Amino acid sequence: MGKRITILGSTGSIGESTLSLISHAEQMSEDGAFNIVCLTAHSNAAKLAEQALKYQPEYVVLVKPENAQILKDRLAGTDIKIGIGREALIDAGAWRADFIMAAIVGAAGLEPTLAAVAQGKHVGLANKECLVCAGDLFMTEVKRSGTTLLPVDSEHNAIFQVLNQERRQEVRKLILTASGGPFREFTTTQLANVTRAQALNHPVWEMGAKITIDSASLMNKGLELIEASYLFDRSSDEIDIIIHPQSIVHSMVEYVDGSVLAQMGSPDMRTPIAYALAWPCRMSAPVKPLDLVEMNKLEFFAPDSERFPALRLARDALDIGGAAPTVLNAANEIAVAAFLDEQIPFNSISACIDSVLNSFISEQGFTKPLKSVKEVLDFDTRARQCAQIKISKLG
Ligand code: NDP
Ligand code: MG
Repeated sequence: MGKRITILGSTGSIGESTLSLISHAEQMSEDGAFNIVCLTAHSNAAKLAEQALKYQPEYVVLVKPENAQILKDRLAGTDIKIGIGREALIDAGAWRADFIMAAIVGAAGLEPTLAAVAQGKHVGLANKECLVCAGDLFMTEVKRSGTTLLPVDSEHNAIFQVLNQERRQEVRKLILTASGGPFREFTTTQLANVTRAQALNHPVWEMGAKITIDSASLMNKGLELIEASYLFDRSSDEIDIIIHPQSIVHSMVEYVDGSVLAQMGSPDMRTPIAYALAWPCRMSAPVKPLDLVEMNKLEFFAPDSERFPALRLARDALDIGGAAPTVLNAANEIAVAAFLDEQIPFNSISACIDSVLNSFISEQGFTKPLKSVKEVLDFDTRARQCAQIKISKLG
């Protein structure tokens, strides 16, 4: 029968890479190793229909009702069940599966991913915003359900591969690497004038638009700091960030005896996705083998939070705790969307987040742990509204 696989966000960059690996496994005659049972998209009905016709899942979900007819027409005559809207998306998370790839972008993925976690099976987590906006709640649900959470974000996947979780007192530090993005050497003045097209042109990784902008502002690394803190139960001072432009060393763990264990590989998301899909085994992935001689040099630099304030904002939010990471994440999602819409300049993304966090800081209950999804979504909604107001003033 093969492993029953759901992909939440199958039409995105991670979703498509996951499907391509599954096709690769079939070509390698690992026939029947994987059985796609459920796929979801937000608005790309045409691509979802194409995937459904190819992989024949039991259930497909499209969130946006405006595009539903395209999906219905293209799947007419098949026995693939179609769901439309948010509730159907949450049902997709709960659809019986052995492995669920959480690859929706943003806090929109929280509820379907929690539904996936509740099944108590294996969840591959790319959708880092789930952990940023609801870290404590999310990890509590992982423990309660007995789910095996397999990090797909390349840095966290690297740490997962080299970290001995059982002997935590032997670990001194987690070291996250960052490519530094396209603006690594830009001055603050240059950063003020970068265009949407420049920011979307990442030097190493090909990814969805939102994470590409996050990588350019270094907020991606800020979100990953928070993600690592919840995933591996470490405080912010136990996690370092270093810039490594070649993106070969995906992250490291430093032990008390001075040993530093790294996971390396070509910068290709199919490696961490394959690791999660096949865990606890390994599967073949059509990734360019790492050639260190050809690579010639690996460089490492200290990050600069003066030019890239997103790093400091994320660290502050993690240290404050409570709703601060939720608010940071929501404000970032709105500010990135506004930058992509060319409503605000690049450096206003961090300015907007800073300003939203400041508006919440004196609020009673802001630093208290969030106890329910409702509380998370309430802070998320209010932070989005606050960010919209700041943006209309900036614009
Ligand atoms: P994409 O933008 O390429 O894809 C996002 C997917 O989520 C699409 O299937 C999209 O559907 C769907 N989606 C978007 N908005 C919603 C919504 N509101 N409700 C339901 N579904 C939605 O993103 P990526 O694949 O690049 O990234 C996905 C996640 O993985 C992000 O959290 C990102 O940070 C993380 N990640 C990505 C990496 C990468 O290399 N791409 C690396 C490490 C982490 P539609 O196509 O219809 O819009
Ligand atoms: Mg990453």
